[in-house]
Amino acid sequence: MGRSMTRPQQTAQTAQPVPGCDVCAALVRQREEARRRGDYSQAVDCTVEISRHPHKGRK
Ligand SMILES: [Zn+2]
Repeated sequence: MGRSMTRPQQTAQTAQPVPGCDVCAALVRQREEARRRGDYSQAVDCTVEISRHPHKGRK
């Protein structure tokens, strides 16, 4: 616990959108658009948001 907080980039790389979550789905779409533009910092931001998005009933 707390280890992932000290390594945000590693967390971001392993972030997975939660199936059925509209917010995650929207972030994935934004991330793909950012990558298409070559805006990788924006893409990373979206990935971080996905990893931080809270989901009730999931751990
Ligand atoms: Zn979500």
